[in-house]
Amino acid sequence: MSTALEQATRLLAELTDAAAEGVWSAPGRVNLIGEHTDYNEGFVLPFAIPHRTVAAVARRRDDRVRVASTFAEEPVEVALAELDELFPTAPGSAPRVAEWAAYPLGVAWALRQAGIESSGIDIAIASDVPVGAGLSSSAAIEGATASALNELWGAGLDRTALARIGRRAENEAVGAPTGIMDQMAAMLGESDAAIFLDCRSLDAVTVPVGLADAGLEILVIDTRVSHAHSTGGFRERRASCERGAALLDVRSLRDVSTSDLARAGRVLDDVTFRRVRHIVTENQRVLDTVRTLREHGPRAIGDLLIASHASMRDDFEISVPELDTAVEAAVEAGAIGARMTGGGFGGAAIALIERDAERAVTDAVRAAFAASGFAEPTVFTVVPSAGAGRDT
Ligand code: ADP
Ligand code: MG
Repeated sequence: MSTALEQATRLLAELTDAAAEGVWSAPGRVNLIGEHTDYNEGFVLPFAIPHRTVAAVARRRDDRVRVASTFAEEPVEVALAELDELFPTAPGSAPRVAEWAAYPLGVAWALRQAGIESSGIDIAIASDVPVGAGLSSSAAIEGATASALNELWGAGLDRTALARIGRRAENEAVGAPTGIMDQMAAMLGESDAAIFLDCRSLDAVTVPVGLADAGLEILVIDTRVSHAHSTGGFRERRASCERGAALLDVRSLRDVSTSDLARAGRVLDDVTFRRVRHIVTENQRVLDTVRTLREHGPRAIGDLLIASHASMRDDFEISVPELDTAVEAAVEAGAIGARMTGGGFGGAAIALIERDAERAVTDAVRAAFAASGFAEPTVFTVVPSAGAGRDT
């Protein structure tokens, strides 16, 4: 099988008869802990994974932008000026281009909106990040495109600014109300380290995870139940958090601490209270995980991962039976900790395991899925890896 880099380069050659001027790529991510805290201005701890989305790019002589992907039948081509008519997409409605194309075109639009001078460009995309699995193929396509255009359009933006460009594309061009975590992980990833991100200040600190030294691995269990962020549940959870913050009279749930929860319980209805409690306790778990990693290493964070999953299952109610089964089977088979990762309603779970337990945990998860009549999950290991960059 050819690599994503070869596929993207070939696709560009088919499109333009010209060689790529350069190839850029950005990774997917898993979130070690800190779910739905990003848009509440809280804390997250993701890391970039080895799977990447690649953009092979060449400049054009005219003022048009064309995007192609190995995942799409047809390229999409528009005039650069037309981007400003296509976007932003009206809240709650579908983009006026094929949805996948709204990611790369949205990045081009967001750069123009930021005052960057644009010029005609062809972009060919290929990827080995599983799509819709909660591993953030969306931030990977945004990060690869943003990195390419940043250089070819001479924008000179730093990594945090490019992450903001990606989020703006996803929020306003695609219309998915996601936070900044995925884009920051894709831009800032480093090998063997997680990114401890304060989503209010966007201050990011690299935290060594030390998996290899401890003889541990992270297993990803992709349930292949596909989620759709831009619809329903995600929007509803976000609204609950905003309602909770308003009723508690704070700017965001970041400003509520675990010692405020008793009062919150008296002020809020049951559902809103449980949504709030997830965010507040999850923020604390991120802080605890960072401290534990620094003081005791990765073997000590298992209970925090398990508590995070329980909070998402019971309080935030974003898990699904397949994710619960993955987590329970992994822990029963000896995983140190496990939790769903990503926005929820499907997607993937992660399990922290001893390196020599990979076979046993994988087999146990597969057996549990079969016994429940679920489709076979895709199971693979990941290591914390580098962020977006230029490949050739
Ligand atoms: P996730 O980020 O968890 O993979 P999302 O729903 O946020 O899931 O993003 C997936 C969407 O991003 C896809 O449905 C598609 O529109 C777009 N996308 C991601 N990768 C690619 C790609 N390589 N080519 C075309 N579109 C892509
Ligand atoms: Mg996504």
